[in-house]
Amino acid sequence: MECFMCKGELEEKRVDYMEDSDNTIIVIKDVPAKVCKICGEKFYDDSTAKII
Ligand SMILES: [Zn+2]
Repeated sequence: MECFMCKGELEEKRVDYMEDSDNTIIVIKDVPAKVCKICGEKFYDDSTAKII
């Protein structure tokens, strides 16, 4: 799998997912994601996206 933005290599990482909605910031820690080594774009798995 490669980055959709720059075709860079993706690295499996656990990140803190942050979402800002209606002045409330929701933080979910240790979310598995693939992070591009070049541009830093984050991609979440389908299973993770459902939790979010
Ligand atoms: Zn990239």
